Amino acid sequence: MTENIYVVGHKSPDTDSVTSAIAYANLKMQMGAAGVIPAAAGPVNNETKFILDHFNLQAPMVCTDAAGQKIILVDHNEVGQAVDNIMKADIVEVVDHHKIGDIQTGKPIFFHNEPVGATGTIIASMYQQNNIPIPKEIAGLMMAAILSDTVLFKSPTCTEKDKEMVAMLSQICGEDPMKFGMDMLKAKSDMGSKSAEDILMGDFKKFDFAGVKAGVGQIEVMDLSDLESKRGAILAEMKKKVEAENLDMIVLMLTDVMKEASDLLFYGNDKAALGFEKAFGGKIANNSIYKEKCLSRKKQVIPPLESAFKN
Ligand code: MG
Ligand code: MG
Ligand code: MG
Repeated sequence: MTENIYVVGHKSPDTDSVTSAIAYANLKMQMGAAGVIPAAAGPVNNETKFILDHFNLQAPMVCTDAAGQKIILVDHNEVGQAVDNIMKADIVEVVDHHKIGDIQTGKPIFFHNEPVGATGTIIASMYQQNNIPIPKEIAGLMMAAILSDTVLFKSPTCTEKDKEMVAMLSQICGEDPMKFGMDMLKAKSDMGSKSAEDILMGDFKKFDFAGVKAGVGQIEVMDLSDLESKRGAILAEMKKKVEAENLDMIVLMLTDVMKEASDLLFYGNDKAALGFEKAFGGKIANNSIYKEKCLSRKKQVIPPLESAFKN
């Protein structure tokens, strides 16, 4: 009997983390591995559901506890973002496109990290390198992941390789990338059914900035005014979360993908507020600092926070 290996992305799963698990499990199986099972660290979001439905695929099983399991991590490599008990798991591979975090292993493993726009880009190029045919719907998933993570190529994280992979994948899946990308965005921007908690926790990651414990979330919409009526409730939710989890601060990026700007909502203690203002070169007004040309948490929000809190 072979032991199963679960491929899983980060908590608050986004499209790239869910679809990368599905695609990478498919690639491994086509390359001869057995018992490789895609999983997600929680229920899928509206955008991912739209994409899975479009390609007639089921959401992967939910995995919330990694203790004692063989695990391949995709789209993250930080303990704070991984499923619970990740350090009690046997991590056998990592495929990611984020800064190197704090995951540790007891033996050498396959660790592939590349500064591209999406984990989907890395996996698509692995199919190519290994001459493995990409099934039509898997091509669609990887294309969607790249479009989602790069905000339709607008994010500063986007590279030429991301665009090349989307061109290749759109040929296979038969979807026009920009048209499909706009449909994804509409699905993602549907705030009607979302509570303030959903909005805060939908894409939420924890970080430690030289001892300052932070949560940094992001919500992307086609028009920021769609969120205006929920702003008070979102702030109340941020306060609740800071207190419940003993954080120093939460930053929530309210990102307007059309204007390519983010309103950075802040809740936290005085020390954190000073660091936040230093990081973004402004004063907090009405609980936020508004930043033009700001789309990427990874490239435009985490690095300035990290340096602001560095001693
Ligand atoms: Mg992700
Ligand atoms: Mg990603
Ligand atoms: Mg994202």
